[in-house]
Amino acid sequence: MTPEEFRRFGHEVVDWIADYSDRIREYPVLSRNRPGDLTRALPPSAPETGEPMEAILSDFRDLIVPAITHWNHPAFLGYFGISGSEPGILGEMLAAGLNVNGMLWKSSPAVTELEQVTLGWLRQWLGLPKDFFGVIYDTASTSTLHAVVAARQMAVAPEMARGNWEHLVLYCSEQAHSSVEKAAVTAGIGRCNVRTIAVDENFRLRPELLSSAIEDDLRAGMQPFCVVATVGTTAMASTDPVEQIADIAARHGIWLHVDAAYGGSAAILPEMAHVMNGCARAHSLVVNPHKWLLTPVDLSVFYTSRPDLLRRAFSLVPEYLRTGDGPEAINLMDYGFQLGRRFRALKLWFVMRNYGREGLAAIIRGHLDLAQEFAGWVKNDDRFELCAPVDFSLVCFRYRGTDADNQKLLDAINRSGAALLSHAVFGGRMVLRVAIGNYRTQREDLRRVWDCIGVLAGKLG
Ligand SMILES: *Cc1c(COP(=O)(O)O)cnc(C)c1O
Repeated sequence: MTPEEFRRFGHEVVDWIADYSDRIREYPVLSRNRPGDLTRALPPSAPETGEPMEAILSDFRDLIVPAITHWNHPAFLGYFGISGSEPGILGEMLAAGLNVNGMLWKSSPAVTELEQVTLGWLRQWLGLPKDFFGVIYDTASTSTLHAVVAARQMAVAPEMARGNWEHLVLYCSEQAHSSVEKAAVTAGIGRCNVRTIAVDENFRLRPELLSSAIEDDLRAGMQPFCVVATVGTTAMASTDPVEQIADIAARHGIWLHVDAAYGGSAAILPEMAHVMNGCARAHSLVVNPHKWLLTPVDLSVFYTSRPDLLRRAFSLVPEYLRTGDGPEAINLMDYGFQLGRRFRALKLWFVMRNYGREGLAAIIRGHLDLAQEFAGWVKNDDRFELCAPVDFSLVCFRYRGTDADNQKLLDAINRSGAALLSHAVFGGRMVLRVAIGNYRTQREDLRRVWDCIGVLAGKLG
């Protein structure tokens, strides 16, 4: 491709993105494709000779876009709504243009230093201590895996020799994200050594049960090594009592990891700073700017007060990667499993600068207000009930009927294309989730979704 062609198609692509964003409400939220539709529409083998960009872009519009579920749609309210904001998209484009690999400081100083600077800024916004070292991974799942490996390092100091982890035990609430258990499995801890602790009526880990589980394991000759607390659980956005869990972790000398993948971003609001209560005492914490901080997927931030242990677990430097750049030249490959690393910090830096803390806080505050308003609508309609406290931007509710009714309602809403909701099961009952996280979502969008739910519920009876 010549520079002139690149310029032309580049402009065309940017125009497409701008139009797409502008007309996002015209798309069905959930893709109408059936499984295999796209696969069957594509040739079984790649072309032998290059094809013109016009043909590729036209297939993008005609084949790929219909197979997209539009997370950008303001009525995308499933899982956790997200927004890849325009400044973030521009940062992502430039990162692709530069195409650097930040495995070492010298392999591109900006990747390492901008990551450290932006994560320092974010640390201040979140009210976390100065000694928290930050590193960017792809997802919270990866961040939590690194927490578990660092915790294992603290517990048994295996010095990269073969380890015996059979006696190590990890604790989390029964509402913890599945990534916690997956991390334990990946780190060789095993599911049988994960204790899921019961929650109280507000879905918060019960500290007295954590204490007694730890005591039981100690009596049985096991070694408790890690506890994961959650700030904003995935199913209903409950927050574990981190302060009390930190006391227990400290008493037993075990690693405390906080999963604040979703809820953590709210701490940039002064009135929500309390969600980080106790987190300063954690050994590590994960927060996902790609969830609620307007940064395009993927970008997860991992903070730890023990980067020394992370390094000891992961720094294995072959000769060709040795550098003599001195202590200020951090090599990020030493702080995790991966060697190569793309320039993710650039998009976060664009977002943080272009919005500023106030701009981002105003958007998150708007989401919190919308969630309260939606919860009010639910409360005022006696066909429905609210199923969990609304502490963040997530509303959990259900139709007062059977699980089958709720499933029918969910399927009908999602099939309509007007909105996308997801579900959870708690207390053995199916619950519908409305999770607001898109900066485009306005009150009118939400009102339309609620009206649509009401109409579809009317057809259930
Ligand atoms: C979304 C979420 C995760 C998983 O995030 P990924 O970045 O997709 O791995 C983990 N924990 C909580 C609490 C979450 O909400």
